[in-house]
Amino acid sequence: MNVPFVDLVAQHRALEPELLEAARGVLTRCDFILGDAVQRFERGFAELAGAPHCVGVASGTDALMLALRALDVGPGDEVLAPANTFIATVAAISLVGARPVLVDCDEHHLLDVDALAAALGPRSKVVIPVHLYGQPADMDRISALAAARGVHVLEDSAQAHGATLEDGRRCGSLARLAAFSFYPSKNLGACGDAGAVTTLDEGLARRLRLLRNWGSVVKYEHEVPGYNSRLDTLQAALMNVKLGHLPAWNEARARAAGWYGELLAGVPGVEAPTVAPWTGRHVWHLYVVRIPGLKDRAALLERLKQRGVSAGIHYPHPIHLQKAYAHLGLGAGAFPASERACREIVSLPMFPELTRAQVEHVVSALRAAL
Ligand SMILES: *Cc1c(COP(=O)(O)O)cnc(C)c1O
Repeated sequence: MNVPFVDLVAQHRALEPELLEAARGVLTRCDFILGDAVQRFERGFAELAGAPHCVGVASGTDALMLALRALDVGPGDEVLAPANTFIATVAAISLVGARPVLVDCDEHHLLDVDALAAALGPRSKVVIPVHLYGQPADMDRISALAAARGVHVLEDSAQAHGATLEDGRRCGSLARLAAFSFYPSKNLGACGDAGAVTTLDEGLARRLRLLRNWGSVVKYEHEVPGYNSRLDTLQAALMNVKLGHLPAWNEARARAAGWYGELLAGVPGVEAPTVAPWTGRHVWHLYVVRIPGLKDRAALLERLKQRGVSAGIHYPHPIHLQKAYAHLGLGAGAFPASERACREIVSLPMFPELTRAQVEHVVSALRAAL
């Protein structure tokens, strides 16, 4: 049996007639830039995120970068972010000329709030909690701390479409600004690059609409220097087809996570992912186990591959040990929890179409490979 890491083909095969119809509609209207479908998507996605405003942009990285720009973050400012995240979270900080200040993670792989409190300083302007793997960061504590210290909060919600806190509040509405990615393999994926910012604040929404479109909402009138970072009409039209399926896809991921949890309980040495007490709905963007005693992870992945199972590592290196951030001067040992997590993690296949038989195969392959 072959179990891919993600199976985009299965999802797109099922939706093909509707996707082709949506694409044909765009080709008929030729409203390729900021067309009808973009506004329709923004309304639909705002509702899904529980936020009053959504501004479609070209990618998740741009969503983060433009959100920082909308808050006037630039040179001289510090922006706090976890050391264990995808590089884009921190790249966005660099792109606006601010200085990244990295923070270690807790046992759920989420921003450690005590470490955050210790890292805040006079130049801190924004903190970016990442809802890593599909589970919200400890937003109530983070928001309270940020409010007390006069720091803005920007959610990196790129992996958390539809995730909620215990009381039902949704990722995308837990701070003034939230950035989403619709990279194809995300829980809601475009057929190419796409992203969005959701916000509670009408003024920020307007600023974002300016920034994504050369500083302009009225053609040839430019209020601020801006970017060309619009959500393509074609991508919006394709995602309008997918949007309604997201809740069922998230449920299917949760069902697969339940099977993994049940079956992995019988595999010694493998720790299933933990669900934090503040989490309502975990949307399982990734299913990441920890294997503390692991000596040779590359060999383990190879043995899984031989049994038809594709696994991954998210992410193999914490940000401070990446060459791109060597200039921060933080060597090994700076963030022990993140560094240990990076050594011990293995991401098992996770996608909505995953079957019970596939999960059984993955777990028995893992047991054999160990
Ligand atoms: C995917 C991702 C991004 C970047 O999104 P792109 O659309 O690929 O630019 C940012 N942050 C996190 C946590 C992500 O997983």
